[in-house]
Amino acid sequence: MTQKFEFTRPAQGFAAYEQGGALKPWTFNRRSLRHDDVAIKILYAGICHSDLHALNDGWAGEFPIVPGHEIMGEVTETGPGVTDFKIGDQVLIGTIVDSCRVCDPCQQQMESYCRAFPTLTYDGVDRIDGSRTRGGFSDSYVADKKFVYHLPKGLEASLAAPLMCAGITVYSPLRHWNVGPGKVVGIVGIGGLGHLAVKYARAMGAHVVAFTTSESKIEEAKNLGAHEVVLSTDAKQMEAQAYRFDFILDTVSKSYLMDPFIIALKLDATLCSLGIPNSFDLKPILLTMGRRRLSSSGVGGTKETKEMLEFSAEHGIYPEVEMVRKDEINKAMERLAKNDVRYRFVIDMRK
Ligand SMILES: [Zn+2]
Ligand SMILES: [Zn+2]
Repeated sequence: MTQKFEFTRPAQGFAAYEQGGALKPWTFNRRSLRHDDVAIKILYAGICHSDLHALNDGWAGEFPIVPGHEIMGEVTETGPGVTDFKIGDQVLIGTIVDSCRVCDPCQQQMESYCRAFPTLTYDGVDRIDGSRTRGGFSDSYVADKKFVYHLPKGLEASLAAPLMCAGITVYSPLRHWNVGPGKVVGIVGIGGLGHLAVKYARAMGAHVVAFTTSESKIEEAKNLGAHEVVLSTDAKQMEAQAYRFDFILDTVSKSYLMDPFIIALKLDATLCSLGIPNSFDLKPILLTMGRRRLSSSGVGGTKETKEMLEFSAEHGIYPEVEMVRKDEINKAMERLAKNDVRYRFVIDMRK
């Protein structure tokens, strides 16, 4: 099949032109619709911690980069092969927009674990035309229908975008490790990921213990749904947690001394670290004692993302959001770098 590669859809976005550079307005073209494509007008875009990494920490492939992989919008046009989306539908797009579709994880709809690496929503390379993908800090997006999701009924459009990265990133491991009634579950770090993890774990029926280093977050964590809050800087409180947990979800992105958290795991229990720190600081003997496991997890695939959205709608789970205007993007990025956000920034792309 011959495919014409045309880029005829003008888009306005915000791009970083170099590593560490501020985001500036940028006009570019998105691709013409392919057979299975959905074009959307973006209404809201969440700001994720990995956007900072992409722009500042050498994760980037090629500048200019338009970040943003938590996207909520409305369908404006569809390709001839699209039947389940129509113009005006409210939809979401997350961190990946394609994958090889033939490897084992892809066939099991765990496309985020594609062996050929999934196509990232921004700063990725399109599998068909080889172009760079441009993210959600813009007025539009074009994606294959397989990676576009309906906003479920009852889910508030202005708050849903962060579920597409932060939400699925914590939902997926909580499900994989069978968090539910009768399980004691720890959530380490009450930020963009952790605050949603507390809500999901609570809604799944587990006994939820939040770990925080900041006294100011104790009350907040309880309000989010934690049954207990442990101040992890208090050695006495940490000692009392030994052999208590069926599962611990760690959202901390910096390396820190993990020994007290490993000790807190029961026999055969797992600590799943989501923050991708540069290294793990722990005594391996603590894993031997208790046959404990240290693991990690990526975002969920298409099947689990749909399930997460339904679960969120059913249980009324939203991120806590600070809404910002387009002209506040750089300010928001600076504040995020200092962890000064309660708990997720969402850009209103119309303002
Ligand atoms: Zn993200
Ligand atoms: Zn694959």
